[in-house]
Amino acid sequence: MPVLLLILLAGVLAYFIWRHRSSSLSRDCRWRQDRARGVWRCAACGGEIPGTGHGPPRLCLKNHS
Ligand SMILES: [Zn+2]
Repeated sequence: MPVLLLILLAGVLAYFIWRHRSSSLSRDCRWRQDRARGVWRCAACGGEIPGTGHGPPRLCLKNHS
């Protein structure tokens, strides 16, 4: 019985770690439009993507080394 409880606990822990990682990933990126230069700049990682005018990019350059 205690073994089952341990497995359940590990599963819950893994779920919370996964949730924390995925939520912090999207929160990291803060795109700001630099109209003067025509680019989107990420305030979190400093990444730059040429502006298209369709809204901020969804990806973070921090994850693409
Ligand atoms: Zn970023």
